This record gives sequence, structure tokens and C-alpha cells, in this order.
Amino acid sequence: MATLSPLLKQATPVLAERGEGVYLYDTEGRRHLDFTAGIGVTNTGHCHPRVVEAAQRQVGTLIHGQYTTVMHRPLLRLVEALGEVLPDGVDSLFFLNSGSEAVEASIRLARHATGRQNIVVFHGSFHGRTMGAAALTTAGTKFRAGIGPLMPGAAIAPFPQAYRYGWSEEESTRFALRELDYLLATASPASDTAAFVVEPVLGEGGYIPAPPAFLEGLRERADRHGILLIMDEVQTGFGRTGRFWGHEHSAARPDVLITAKGLASGFPLSAIAAPAALMEKARPGSQGGTYGGNAVACAAALATLQVIADEDLVGNAARQGARLNDGLRKIAADHPEIGDVRGLGLMQAGEFSTPDGEPDAATAARAHKAAAERGLLLLTCGAYGNVVRMIPPLIVTGEQVDDALGIWSHAVADATG
Ligand code: PMP
Repeated sequence: MATLSPLLKQATPVLAERGEGVYLYDTEGRRHLDFTAGIGVTNTGHCHPRVVEAAQRQVGTLIHGQYTTVMHRPLLRLVEALGEVLPDGVDSLFFLNSGSEAVEASIRLARHATGRQNIVVFHGSFHGRTMGAAALTTAGTKFRAGIGPLMPGAAIAPFPQAYRYGWSEEESTRFALRELDYLLATASPASDTAAFVVEPVLGEGGYIPAPPAFLEGLRERADRHGILLIMDEVQTGFGRTGRFWGHEHSAARPDVLITAKGLASGFPLSAIAAPAALMEKARPGSQGGTYGGNAVACAAALATLQVIADEDLVGNAARQGARLNDGLRKIAADHPEIGDVRGLGLMQAGEFSTPDGEPDAATAARAHKAAAERGLLLLTCGAYGNVVRMIPPLIVTGEQVDDALGIWSHAVADATG
């Protein structure tokens, strides 16, 4: 008898039957408020009628076009639609299936385009689990331990983690940029460094927004040294942070943009975008894959983009994110176990610490479990698993945010009482 491998970890015991909007229903008909959104994927809510309709229509027309064999309309239309939302000039793109694959593709592109080897990432980064991406992932030992040797050429610089350092955002940013300069002058010479890869909000590493001055400092150094600035917007893209792209909270613009998750409302689709002149430096045929740009996924992505625009989901993410952050702060004010509340838009989190400031994963795990028992699905993150994050679909209403906050306040009381 086949069994599901025990190596998989499941954050909640839910056996999901059906999803609708911000709710998941289990096989016993119980309703769960889903503030995980499939790890920041179902931005338009579960089974948005317009996404369902577009996908259903496409299934009956063409499922698999195979874009290195033939071209198809949903893919061409999606390229055109993405042209409306991509940063100026960062508009030559191709598709893959997952965030990790797109990260791998960006490494390949950066090495081809610059002729250099090294990729600099920032401490706490998560860029995926495939072997190249794992070399760039520093969000916790479970992603790296026991699988080496990893891809050579990855160098790690500090990410401005103000709360962990106990410094201000300005001090943390100054420190991180000074250490990056030191890295480029020592272990990873600028002349050997192809790219910086950065998340506008450190995601799996603990939901820490990159200070705008940090991203701008990376841009300035990238320009000075001929290094590419690759923004991994897999989790922060498509309105999640209250701007269309997470990097739009700063003045810095990427050379290469990596997207996945929210792109197709749950269909496996990812993309990387860069200026055409940069893409031309890659070797033709060096990238691609059997399933990239699947026609049904492209049709779903097109509908997703239309829903984001028509329902002002970016604006809603900013409004509801502010409401969520405000409520989380009020709850934290009554519970010193929550040492920090932070986030951008609908990417919010609370970090649990002991009275002497050490990571408190046990209390975070209890609060996470208590919330699930009360019908609110959440996820943890951070190197020590002591950060509880909230990533609802971007269609969430103020009332649903208040429902979640009500449950969270009881869950924290259960966990700390
Ligand atoms: N980059 C970031 C910023 C992510 O958050 C993730 C997934 N959590 C990935 C890359 C990897 O994406 P995937 O799981 O689709 O491979």
C-alpha cells in the first residue's frame, strides 16, 4: 500500500475539501479562516469565480501548448498583460513552474550576462529548495543541513534585522551595507560577483521588510560594480505588500525580477523578467522546460491580473494590512511575549521572545496551534520558528481581519496564560 512520505511536514491537521474566498472547508464541513493563502499564493481568494471560469474555458480548448515547440495565445496575452505591471524596461520574460525554478533561471541568466560566478544573498534569505536555490537559502538549517556540497559561488551578507540586532533600522541598514562593501572587498571580489539576490520583505526568514535605504544602497552598489540586482518577489509580488511589487516601497528598481506564487492564483506558474538587452546575453536555448507557461496556468494568470485591477486588491492589501498591523500591535501591547510586530501590507507577523530577548519558538507554536483549533489557519517562519505570520488572500474584508484578530487574541492568551 502506498503512503505519503513521512518527510513532509504539515503545519495544520486540516484535510481540505473545498476553498471559497478566504475560507477553507474541511472534509467534516468545518470552516477555517485561511490566513495562509497557500503560503501567499491564493491572492484572489480560493476559487475566485473569474479565475475558475478562465481556467475551465482554457481546459476545453488547449491544456498543454509546450512553449519550446509551439506558441499559444494565453501565453502571448499574459506577456502583454504583464508588460503593464512590470517595472519600466524590465519587460523581457519567460515562464517556469515554481519559485525555485525561476530563482535557478535567474542565476543562470546572471552568470551568462556578466561572465561572473558569485551570487550574494542576505542572511535569512529564502530562495527555494532545489540545489542551486538551496545554496542561496539561509533561512534555517532545515533547508541546508545534510545535503551539501551545495552550489559553489554563493556568498552571504547581513540583512538589516533591526529587532534581532537591537538596533534602529538606520543603524542596521548602515551595518548591513558596510558589511556588504567589506564582502566585495574581501571574500567575494566585486569583479567576480554576478548578482545580489534580495527579497523586498525577508519572507521565510522572519517577515522583515527591507528598509528602503537598504534596497537603494544595493542598487547604488550594483550600478557602481556592474553587478545585477535580482529581486525575488515570489512572495512579495502581485499586491501582497500593498504596492504591486514589494520593491516599490523604495526607489530601487531591479535588473531581474522573479515572480511566482500570486501570479496564477494557485496554478503552478513562475516567471523571470529582465531588460531584453540582458536576456540577449544569455545563450539561446539555455533556459526552458516542458511545462513552463502551461496554457491553463497562463489563462488563470490573465484572469488573476484582471481581478487584481478590477477589485483594487493592491489598495485593499494596503488598507487591510494597516488594520491587521494595528490590531496585532494592540494585542502585543497586552502580551510582552510578542516582542515585535512588523510587516508590509498583508504580509504581517509577530515575533515571540523570552523576557531576555531570546527566540521563543515554544510559545509561538502554542499560539499557532491554539489559533488553528479556534478556526484560524496561520504559519510560522523565522530561523527559530518563533515568528507567526498572517498572509490572508488580498480580497479579505475588514470584518474578516477583525475576526482573525479576535481569534488571535484568544489564541495568544491560551498560549501564554
Ligand atoms: N523565493 C521566495 C521569496 C519564496 O518565498 C519561495 C517560497 N516560499 C520561493 C522562492 C520558492 O518558491 P517555490 O516553493 O515555488 O519553489
